Amino acid sequence: MEVYQYANGAYLPASSQPSNTIDFEIKTKKYTPHESVRYMNVYVGSNGIAKRANSTGSLIDCEKNLPVLYEKRESCCGCTACFAICPVQAISMLPDEEGFLYPVVDAEKCIRCYKCISVCAFKKDQKEKGYLE
Ligand code: SF4
Ligand code: SF4
Repeated sequence: MEVYQYANGAYLPASSQPSNTIDFEIKTKKYTPHESVRYMNVYVGSNGIAKRANSTGSLIDCEKNLPVLYEKRESCCGCTACFAICPVQAISMLPDEEGFLYPVVDAEKCIRCYKCISVCAFKKDQKEKGYLE
């Protein structure tokens, strides 16, 4: 199942129907354009921690958080460096509501190596210039 989860809420296609409590929490949160990071195939509980299915199919908290490539879209220029470096092809460059391409992390594929974070020259440059905290 494809689930888009955003840092400060969530947006899902209207055709998606809640299948369990956690899914329902994601689907009823508010989505704010330009202030959200996107993932796919992710479950997030009310504690905000991403979850994964264990060997018995129960959802448990993930050991490491998913990478946050940007918190606002102004801190991503869409250069695709993170997309290119990901060793497991977990990142897709997908259009937002206005057609601009931004990275979307597939939580099922991501091994939390954070190479995507370290390669992001745009954020490093912005931090050095004092534009980002
Ligand atoms: S490397 Fe950084 S600026 Fe480039 S697409 Fe990825 S998150 Fe955006
Ligand atoms: S943390 Fe590693 S595996 Fe996950 S999206 Fe980034 S580069 Fe890919």
